[in-house]
Amino acid sequence: MHDPNPTQRIQVGDARITYLADGAGRVSPLAMFPNTNDTDWPADDRDENGRITTSIGAFLVETGDARVLVDCGIGPVEREFPAFGTFGGGSLLESLAATGVEPGAITHVVFTHLHVDHVGWAAGEDGTPTFANAAHHVAEAEWAFWRANPDVGGAPSAERFLDPLEDRIRWVGDGDAVAPGIRAMATPGHTPGHLAYVVDAGDVQAVLVGDVFHHVRQFGTPGITCAFDIDATTALRTRARLARHAEQPGTTLGAPHLTPGPFGRLTRGPKGLVFQRIGQPL
Ligand SMILES: [Zn+2]
Repeated sequence: MHDPNPTQRIQVGDARITYLADGAGRVSPLAMFPNTNDTDWPADDRDENGRITTSIGAFLVETGDARVLVDCGIGPVEREFPAFGTFGGGSLLESLAATGVEPGAITHVVFTHLHVDHVGWAAGEDGTPTFANAAHHVAEAEWAFWRANPDVGGAPSAERFLDPLEDRIRWVGDGDAVAPGIRAMATPGHTPGHLAYVVDAGDVQAVLVGDVFHHVRQFGTPGITCAFDIDATTALRTRARLARHAEQPGTTLGAPHLTPGPFGRLTRGPKGLVFQRIGQPL
């Protein structure tokens, strides 16, 4: 079984990107990836209950004067999802402190999407936004979907997360810059308004892909669907498109759930694309 990803860092041109560990899920691979078979999952990857590890965390991008948080982890909770497994967090603010950045110094919070494991630290129990001085951005379609569908699996709590952000959330769409050198890229499928964020440093770039990819095996086999993909057909198209994009030289991928991960580069092997992990623990 793999350990959850520790807090770790890469440098992309002048941008410093840190993965901030929050916690992990221990999940049934067959529940999480319903079109796989038991024999697809080696015993070495599984715990005594047959579950695999999926990391939970967020990314801090420091570039110029901007300190951009991409997603917010799951927060200080332990949640059991029947038939799936457990998902828990709690260490994101400590991970952030280890970088020397205070919550009040975050200039932007940008969401790939609003599943509960990506908004967990956005507001405190009393409804106060945690990153009080930050502009908050999400795709309008994403916000509208969860406002209209609060009972879909993985939904963020309206009271706990959406209401506290209502007055400060701003819309961002495909190609929009959220800060100098960081732009959004439409990547729908997992959720309707899912966005990736491209950190563009000229010759080199990083693409923070959110939940387009949940497992490293999806690079070689993009047809592996995640149970939480709301539109599986669109998600498959997006995975294939993003893998082609990330195969370009000088491109690094970051995805919070990839374990081991979260940073890596794609190379083409005899069986298709292979994810090669990079990154230095802090
Ligand atoms: Zn997720």
